[in-house]
Amino acid sequence: MTSTSGTSDSLAYTDGNALAGPLADLFAVDITRASTSCVGCGGESAVAELHLYTAGPGFVARCPHCHDPVLRYVRTPSTAILDLRGTVRLEAPLAL
Ligand SMILES: [Zn+2]
Repeated sequence: MTSTSGTSDSLAYTDGNALAGPLADLFAVDITRASTSCVGCGGESAVAELHLYTAGPGFVARCPHCHDPVLRYVRTPSTAILDLRGTVRLEAPLAL
């Protein structure tokens, strides 16, 4: 669905359903091969290199350089929650 503010076409937006196609590209790849940039120290790491803690109700992946949380993932029976506040950028190679 597209909405507008009524004041300018530049403020028009589309709801998040339009991300289904583009994000399917991202999450269809092997996410462990993606690289991250840590908010805490700026260090670059592959997701596979993050230090993963699994004792909590979900997963917490921490930077191998400064130990700040880079991403958190919680899955319930009906919902998956991915928190990326600890990463500046997540860059995944696409299968071509
Ligand atoms: Zn870091």
